[in-house]
Amino acid sequence: MTGLVIVGHGTRSAAGVDQFAALVERVRRRGDVGDVEGGFIELSRPPLTDAVGALVAHGHRALVALPLVLTAAGHGKGDIPAAMAREQERHPGLTYRYGRPLGPHPLLHDALEERVDAALASSDRAGTALAGADRAGTALAGADRAGTALAGADRAGTWVALIGRGSTDPDANAEVAKVARLLWEGRGYAGVEPGFVSLASPSVPAVLERLRRLGARRIVVAPYFLFAGVLPDRIVAQSAEFAAAHPDLDVRVAELIGDCDALADLVRERYAEALGGDIRMNCDTCAYRVLMPGFADKVGRPQRPHDHPDDPVGHHQHHGHDHGHAHDHGSVAVVGGGPGPDDLITVRGKALLDAADVVVVDRLAPQGLLAGLRPDVLVVDAAKVPRGPSMAQEAINAALVSHARAGRRVVRLKGGDPYVFGRGHEEVQACTAAGVPVTVVPGVSSAIAAPALVGVPVTHRGVAHDVTVVSGHLPPGHPDSLVDWAALARARGTVVLLMAVDTIAKIASVLIEHGRAPETPVLAVQDAGQADQRSVPARLDEIGAVAAREDIRPPAVFVLGPVVALPTTGPKA
Ligand code: SAH
Repeated sequence: MTGLVIVGHGTRSAAGVDQFAALVERVRRRGDVGDVEGGFIELSRPPLTDAVGALVAHGHRALVALPLVLTAAGHGKGDIPAAMAREQERHPGLTYRYGRPLGPHPLLHDALEERVDAALASSDRAGTALAGADRAGTALAGADRAGTALAGADRAGTWVALIGRGSTDPDANAEVAKVARLLWEGRGYAGVEPGFVSLASPSVPAVLERLRRLGARRIVVAPYFLFAGVLPDRIVAQSAEFAAAHPDLDVRVAELIGDCDALADLVRERYAEALGGDIRMNCDTCAYRVLMPGFADKVGRPQRPHDHPDDPVGHHQHHGHDHGHAHDHGSVAVVGGGPGPDDLITVRGKALLDAADVVVVDRLAPQGLLAGLRPDVLVVDAAKVPRGPSMAQEAINAALVSHARAGRRVVRLKGGDPYVFGRGHEEVQACTAAGVPVTVVPGVSSAIAAPALVGVPVTHRGVAHDVTVVSGHLPPGHPDSLVDWAALARARGTVVLLMAVDTIAKIASVLIEHGRAPETPVLAVQDAGQADQRSVPARLDEIGAVAAREDIRPPAVFVLGPVVALPTTGPKA
């Protein structure tokens, strides 16, 4: 039977650790979920690695890992999977199915109802003011109203403050609000209001004050917590403080959910669900997948495991053994996408693209690949980067750096090869200057590929022993031009001109002027590799007029030299 590892976060509370262990034991005693071990990712013993190690030692290669958390926040979504990923590195071949968080679930709502009822029934303990009380399950009230709380106090006169741990994950906080609503529906309480003991609002004092203003006279504070810990203690202390300040109110704190049969039932259910492959997590409102107002930095954020004090690997990492975690702090890959078709990108480029969180894409890059990206990938169209044209490159560089600094895997997807008139190295320099890890993936350049796709080799034995790739962006004679056009004219081999649609007439005449034969064959290749690819042949002294007449448009290359006249078996048009 598939082994189960129950994963807890860990706590500084000895009572909390004991309760966790008792629950693991309760599940184990039932004997209906196979081998069971429990471990923590932080703070408490045993560490997760011991629990997984024990199951592996028992011969398990496939596990169910169940995060013992009530809501899916950072621990359940990121920290525990990251810790399990580390276990998989330690135990090659280990696989696991990940269970979903425990709540919301009717078993929990019923348990909460029982805890609230128990607090209402505990009239004998009312009247004992316990400022700074260190345990839940205590009725708190001002000494001057001792004995006024009635046994079996009615629900209609009772407000419940359901207190979750609180998270920076809005979805997790929303789950607590949902539980509050479900606890109220049909149970007859005056109302149930959610609050949070850390990181989210309303705080415990704020929600109690809200209830007081609504006219509440009796409030049961129900911690939405599994086990004892620092935060549940804080709920008790804050409730006691509020009660002391409002002696006219009857304020009680209910017990925690704790180690109980209902919880063991729920663990069993989550285990079966994971085994059956039926994990119905709602990812529609997950901040790591969709952009939520104020939480944009979370989308696609990589996760890394906590370092458990008893787990040796944790310490290694601090000493720079960063195996396989190159993306932990975000990175940029400048990827050559090839001349346009989806399948002329390199395998490495495609793998990086598939793993990307953000893709910054050029107009001439293989746009068809964007359709295959995960829906949560942020696609930035570099052609539409705001600010004026002269600022565009700086804005792109800044975007690459800022996304990487936010921890994202950024792919800068370019047409052809990033270093052939692609400004790729400027982007690499910008990343390096900003301390952002950057890598370059070469691509199939249109300079070579466009002629090849219409059957022209840029070199051929006995015909051309050199090929020169030239930018026609600046015409001959332009003060900023760095090209020695006269030397090109004297050379015998192949010349490939990129970005030369507007300048081809001028370039051709300068080449002839400096000695290239007017009858040198030229081929214009437009939209190479695309459905509308076409090529137009001409002599060097006619190419300007022909290109204009045939309406050659970018993107196009011009290839000239003796290779163009070679007989071919492939298509030339
Ligand atoms: N880095 C790119 C070139 C960028 S400059 C590469 O290595 O291919 C842009 C020029 O590339 C265009 O003006 C055109 O000359 C050429 N080009 C890019 N894609 C092309 C295509 N599919 N067909 C013909 N020319 C192309």
